[in-house]
Amino acid sequence: METEPGVDLQQPLAPETPPLPHSASGEVATEQDLSELAPPARPARHWTPRRVVVTPAALDEAHGQRIVARVESLGIEVERLRSNRLTGVRGETERETYARAKSTLAVVVSPPSRRRLQPISPSADWRVDLAEGCPAHCQYCYLAGSLSGPPVTRVYADLDGILANLAEYVGTGEVTSRSAYRSDEGTTFEASCYSDPLALDHLTGSWQRAVEHFGAWDAPVQLRWTTKFADVDPFVPMAHHGRTRVRFSVNSLPVTRRWEGGTSTLEQRLAAVRRLALAGYPVGLTIAPIMPLEGWRDHYGELLDLVARAVDGVPDLDLTAELITHRFTAASKAVLTGWYPRTTLEMDEARRAVKRGKFGTTKHVYPKDVMAELWRWFETELATRLPGCRVLYWT
Ligand code: SF4
Repeated sequence: METEPGVDLQQPLAPETPPLPHSASGEVATEQDLSELAPPARPARHWTPRRVVVTPAALDEAHGQRIVARVESLGIEVERLRSNRLTGVRGETERETYARAKSTLAVVVSPPSRRRLQPISPSADWRVDLAEGCPAHCQYCYLAGSLSGPPVTRVYADLDGILANLAEYVGTGEVTSRSAYRSDEGTTFEASCYSDPLALDHLTGSWQRAVEHFGAWDAPVQLRWTTKFADVDPFVPMAHHGRTRVRFSVNSLPVTRRWEGGTSTLEQRLAAVRRLALAGYPVGLTIAPIMPLEGWRDHYGELLDLVARAVDGVPDLDLTAELITHRFTAASKAVLTGWYPRTTLEMDEARRAVKRGKFGTTKHVYPKDVMAELWRWFETELATRLPGCRVLYWT
């Protein structure tokens, strides 16, 4: 009898080629809900994986043991694997495999290749991965085309080694360190390329430890991550010393309503922005993926006004914006239409221009005139509606 090959948990889920930091947002608040924006945020939903496994090597790591203890304290059983191979993930159909993988959390040791950090332009000097995979269901998720195999979320047990490894990168980097405009950020480390930190941190505590690490690291460095979740309670009292910038991935209400499943509401995220800003964190908006849907000027105008209300009166506000337009690749389109066969998301090559990346990838982006119009609008409206907000990049 043929046995299921299983999923090799030591194989990286994603290739070396870095995508943009992930982007997303969630269910939607009404205008009335949003009028109640004030700390503390309503509790965000917490992901409860159906299955949690740990590899033998991960159990040898102190942080692996901490994750297991944390997960078990939540009443979730943890399966101790005898090897790095995980079986029982593949279903009869692609949908079934997707559903099983998306509800599975694997505690593993990071692949050795991950210790050689890669630049992550235009976001940060270096990309540092604390996990790969995400339990949310955004129908445009750029990760879809980057990940190989069933999308089991992997969290890294060797966190202490991952963080210790960063010291040798201080003062290096070609993205923010070499930019006159952004060099005040120091050497930057982006920790949300292949995952969503706040979707997982209640199970791992990894990003809390990373914030602590950077808080205690008296050097010109900055940790950066972006999220579509809102459970910031544990982060509010932390000694971050301004060396972590948390950005919230936000979008117009029609985009969040239609295509962002399983994330925190826009209301929750905006309340979380406020709470972290009041706690002295540098904060940011990742407005992504920007889509020129019908009435987009009104919808994005509404979003910027909601943000303005959320940060109103915050002393010494340090707010940035990163603007990323929607794009897709042949691979991401194939995966996403397999996962979400009834999606209404526009992924029509005929309506797009082709952009060739330096890793040989071909992306389908909006045509030049559409991009120019979008950028002109955002540049003007951000300056008008959020005058204190610094735009870091547009792409
Ligand atoms: Fe993808 Fe998760 Fe980000 Fe949504 S929240 S875009 S599913 S990584």
